[in-house]
Amino acid sequence: MLDHDIVVVGGGPAGMAAAAAAYDAGVKDVVILDREEENGGILRQCIHNGFGLHKLGRELTGPEYAAVYKQKIEERGIKTYNLTMVTDISADRVVTACRRDGIIKIRAKAVILAMGCRERSRGALNIPGTRPAGVYSAGTAQKLVNCEGYMVGKRVVILGSGDIGLIMARRMSLQGAKVEAVCEIMPYSGGLTRNIVQCLEDYNIPLYLSTTVAKIHGERRVEGVTVARVDENRKPIKKTERYIPCDTLLLSCGLIPENELTRTAGIPISPVTGGAIVDEHRQTEIAGIFACGNVLQVHDLVDYVSDEAEIAGAGAAEFVKNGSLAAANLQTLPGNGVRYVLPQRVSSEAKEDISLYLRVTQPFGRVCFTVKSGDEVLSTAVRLKAAPGEMEKLNIKSEKLKTAKEPITVSLEELK
Ligand SMILES: Cc1cc2nc3c(=O)[nH]c(=O)nc-3n(C[C@H](O)[C@H](O)[C@H](O)COP(=O)(O)OP(=O)(O)OC[C@H]3O[C@@H](n4cnc5c(N)ncnc54)[C@H](O)[C@@H]3O)c2cc1C
Repeated sequence: MLDHDIVVVGGGPAGMAAAAAAYDAGVKDVVILDREEENGGILRQCIHNGFGLHKLGRELTGPEYAAVYKQKIEERGIKTYNLTMVTDISADRVVTACRRDGIIKIRAKAVILAMGCRERSRGALNIPGTRPAGVYSAGTAQKLVNCEGYMVGKRVVILGSGDIGLIMARRMSLQGAKVEAVCEIMPYSGGLTRNIVQCLEDYNIPLYLSTTVAKIHGERRVEGVTVARVDENRKPIKKTERYIPCDTLLLSCGLIPENELTRTAGIPISPVTGGAIVDEHRQTEIAGIFACGNVLQVHDLVDYVSDEAEIAGAGAAEFVKNGSLAAANLQTLPGNGVRYVLPQRVSSEAKEDISLYLRVTQPFGRVCFTVKSGDEVLSTAVRLKAAPGEMEKLNIKSEKLKTAKEPITVSLEELK
């Protein structure tokens, strides 16, 4: 049994930023455990640019963004156990991991969960048809093309218009493939507007909304797909079916936070975000266990991942130094037009201003967000547009929280 003050599970951008922030907040005995041979997480395969604009004020590729945080880890002498798969976390903060040389157990004063997320697979989507080669999740294709140097196909259909699907539509075109279509079951895209413009419009790739893949064809290899428009219950409409010949189908149909370890530790999970329920320090419902990054909520920008991880790192350090954190006595709730609000609990004694992160239920034009406690308005913010694919951030001044009553609600009103 080893002892460390803080154990970070996952060495992606969230884990690295959390570890560095915990160190900077005064707890020097921090270790990172990651199952891969090096830190960086998913960023290692994201060789396109667009990372770091908000956080670092410059546009980097994924590996470049990861390198900034790898350097922070190195400069601080934070030890990483790579090729180390965490298999269990107990509620009393004993972390069990599997390595080539055997099993290790680490007793921690605080644990930070930063395991990221995985992609929804064909099995989870239940797409009818045969089971030929040529059906990949977009992230797997991204890794094969960008890291391993394999081209996954020549004529491609992409199901799902989340950011990974959009980025892969551009990547496949740049590598010489023909992207026949991106089909999206919802009436709007789940991706960032900048990615729709830069990855589809700039390459003349058609985006078909309210459309799904109704059947996969081919015996050994994909030969084509049947696509169809969907009704208001998202069921394919038979008479709209059409066949698109292709040799590859890429699936970009949502990310699932990797919370198996979180569940075994008995940590309550939000059914909406798929991540743990947390307070403003990103402390879960079990004292001393924190969560950040995609394991907590699916992020569209890595910059926000780093912000969130720094909050979790500083919170874990405060917990180690003081043995507890102020009780988060105020619940936050989504109101009109808002799908979820995170953190789900905040403390009226918060020493610093708090940021609430949220997603809206559907695309809106110009909106005004209002954060309220009873009849008292805690903050408002106007946005020119709001979409489910773009996470919103609203600030509340700490002095406003002192007199706030439960629950704090966030709602939106559409403006003319
Ligand atoms: C396929 C894919 C492509 C993406 N592309 C983009 C993009 O182009 N642009 C963008 O802004 N965002 C992209 N994202 C979103 C991106 O994931 C986040 O911005 C960011 O990488 C999340 O950071 P994270 O540290 O939370 O998770 P990750 O980067 O996923 O890191 C999680 C780390 O935890 C480790 N881990 C997990 N479980 C265990 C365990 N049990 N034991 C040990 N280690 C473990 C993993 O090995 C990994 O290193 C993409 C996401 C995915 C899944």
